[in-house]
Amino acid sequence: MNDVIFADLHMHSYYSDGELSPIEVYEVALEAGLKAAAITDHDTVEGLIALPQGLLEADLYIPGVEISAFEVNLSCHILGYFHHSRISKLSKILSACLDSRYERIEEMIGRLQKDGIDVSLRELLEDRAPSKLLGRPHLAELMIKKGIVKNKQEAFDEYLSNDSPYYVPYKRMLPKQAIDIIHSVDGIAFLAHPAKDNIDNKIKYLVDTGLDGIEIWHYSHTPAHEEYYLSQARKHNLLVSGGSDFHGYGKINIVGMKGVSEENYWKIIDRIRT
Ligand SMILES: [Zn+2]
Ligand SMILES: [Zn+2]
Repeated sequence: MNDVIFADLHMHSYYSDGELSPIEVYEVALEAGLKAAAITDHDTVEGLIALPQGLLEADLYIPGVEISAFEVNLSCHILGYFHHSRISKLSKILSACLDSRYERIEEMIGRLQKDGIDVSLRELLEDRAPSKLLGRPHLAELMIKKGIVKNKQEAFDEYLSNDSPYYVPYKRMLPKQAIDIIHSVDGIAFLAHPAKDNIDNKIKYLVDTGLDGIEIWHYSHTPAHEEYYLSQARKHNLLVSGGSDFHGYGKINIVGMKGVSEENYWKIIDRIRT
């Protein structure tokens, strides 16, 4: 069950792996009949930096982020919502985390170059701009573009798979670290799409770790999931959120297909006001 959807609190721009600019994402939300939205790019808040101050001050576009976190037997996404006055502070914290990803990709590129494979970090950054997220799929795309391999499969088989001599693992962010980072900017941390990640047995653990809320409504959740997670939210006294996980057009999840009621929206805003 879901009341009239007031806001879509899970959307991606091209600063991570979405198709549209942050402003376009907001416009698409309004066109879908929503009154408010949140942008939640993966592991970066760079897309929030240039947003019009008036929009942020009106509390109708919530700054957010979706942080990927891992530990043994647990791979999850933590959604964070926070006040717009904290964007630059969070940007600095996440940039430091991104640096370790650069180091990892740089190390992989260095190993490839030593064997005469012509790829560079500069080319990769140019290819990916304005997004600064760099991973193996992007390196594979560069290799295809340069004619080094025919397709992604070949790039991984020959050069990028976990057992390749060119492979360098990146430092993983623990769920507790992700939650602590969001709390360090007075934000609130939600567990994203638990059904999609099949981690129902970790909810209690994450609540004990500091989780503030849970994403109830998500395009991958059935009504039975929604009911189950609502009961979990009540049991653990958690806030509730929801969104489409929009990445662009041509996908099954469209803006506004899932989201939160006006009442739940303002509960979140109340918690991130400073
Ligand atoms: Zn996610
Ligand atoms: Zn997402």
